[in-house]
Amino acid sequence: MDYEKLADLLFEKDLKSTEYYEKLYSRRNLKEGAIVTRCAPSPTGRIHIGNLYSYFISEAFAHQSGGIFFLRVEDTDKKRAIENGVQSILDDLKEYNFKIDEGPEIGGDYGPYIQSERKDIYRSFAKSLVLKGLAYPCFCSEDVLEEIRFSQERSKKRIGYYGKYARCRNLTLEEIEEKLKNKEDFVIRLKSPGNFENKVILDDLIKGKIEMPENDLDVVILKSDGIPTYHFAHAVDDYLMGTTVVTRGDEWVSSYPIHDQLFKVLGFSLPKFAHIAPLTKKEGENVIRKLSKRKDNEAKISYYSEKGIPDVAVKLYLATIANPDFERWYTENPDKSYSDFKFEFDKMSVGGSLFDVIKLQSISKIYFSRLKAKDLYEEALKYFKKYNNEFASIMEKYDAYTINVLNIERETLRPRKDIDSYSSIYEIISYMYDELFDKEYKGVDIKEFYEIELLKDYITNYYDENDTKDEWFSKIKLLCDKHGFASDNKEFKASPERFKGNISNVCEVIRVMATGRVQSPDLYEILKLLGKKRINDRIGYFEKYLGENK
Ligand code: GLU
Repeated sequence: MDYEKLADLLFEKDLKSTEYYEKLYSRRNLKEGAIVTRCAPSPTGRIHIGNLYSYFISEAFAHQSGGIFFLRVEDTDKKRAIENGVQSILDDLKEYNFKIDEGPEIGGDYGPYIQSERKDIYRSFAKSLVLKGLAYPCFCSEDVLEEIRFSQERSKKRIGYYGKYARCRNLTLEEIEEKLKNKEDFVIRLKSPGNFENKVILDDLIKGKIEMPENDLDVVILKSDGIPTYHFAHAVDDYLMGTTVVTRGDEWVSSYPIHDQLFKVLGFSLPKFAHIAPLTKKEGENVIRKLSKRKDNEAKISYYSEKGIPDVAVKLYLATIANPDFERWYTENPDKSYSDFKFEFDKMSVGGSLFDVIKLQSISKIYFSRLKAKDLYEEALKYFKKYNNEFASIMEKYDAYTINVLNIERETLRPRKDIDSYSSIYEIISYMYDELFDKEYKGVDIKEFYEIELLKDYITNYYDENDTKDEWFSKIKLLCDKHGFASDNKEFKASPERFKGNISNVCEVIRVMATGRVQSPDLYEILKLLGKKRINDRIGYFEKYLGENK
């Protein structure tokens, strides 16, 4: 076969040589130990939490090693592309504050970073394989491929385009010329030099050694529109762009023999591979299944933006999934950022990783508990401006007050951990505003010791907003004594019948009157912030409520 002639028939004359590209994209000059990873989203849908997890890992490993993390948009699947797909990927990545070193918007020495703009590069390398007799045009239609499949099924043979089933493998130049003249559609296939009886070993950084049969399929490398398949683009791009570790979902493990072979026939050195196990979810008692974008809300990243769980909190949880030591480290190092932690591939899960929203919320609570009230205020305001403008206006109207409210039990040794998202703040602090306080005390159960006289006495004769916490507490005790409640718990326990209740009952009635809730953060702080006039107003509403619900 005259491969030169074949290549001329199949490819445009002015394609640049592979040597040209090899030279253009010189090998990266990396410092010892630095690795290059990439994220390679396809614009076939919005990014989901599984993608974020994989990008998080890729970025972490690249940057902790002093290497490069780049973005490559894999838009070769035109049929499945969604409208504005590329832009929404870029927006989502920005929202999550990934530090991308090279990519479509930033540029870099290894671009273009969008596959549809690299068509000539793939064609040049495909042509080089044709020239070496390692690739050929295939004219088999869908019907013919189906026929081959049927015959293999019938005779219980392995399914696929290989060996004697690869009908176009041995077409003569004349036959090819004839078909081209007739404008028959064709794809370019690899002429696989592999033998299914041989083994290839994937030495995966996460999963360890996996032995698989060598590839002998004549896989498609260029589709009929001249665009590469994932397999071919992966080999060409990850080689030319200098990826040193391919981090990707483990659904690609089974294709590894194809990739291994493509790198080899192209004369490329192989990168390392780290195949990431999927995020899973528990369904019922025993079933563990893959987290699904269609079934599970928490798989969509809009879930987090709508709830107001910030990117850092989500990433902290992803870090916990990525490495079981992370959570302890994070708890012990309150001043450090997740990017100070050293991740290790061999600590990552080999099977699936359980994704648990409750756990995410608890990590998020730690994150929120460490924010300064002022920063929390600023970020929460941004969130509410988007999702609850009325509340945002109230927050702005009482800005200094709101910061004080948010500062209750914050910036202390053991800060409160009730906020798990921006949206949760509304429920947690709304009663501190007269505009939102529930004057009707809906849902409050009235207890025997809810005495209005005690409350009136408290505000008239005991409350002083300048009191220290100790002074405040001593006065609550005096109030107890005066109204027949035990100020000393031991005494109460010894003979409860002597009292109407104890000091916690007194605190409860004050709390319920002031907040409408049985539980709240530090009562002393709340009362101090509300001030005498507003407490008095609330006693008025409470009296009405008690009167109406006798
Ligand atoms: N575009 C591929 C995907 O979205 C990327 C796989 C890879 O990272 O190589 O599945």
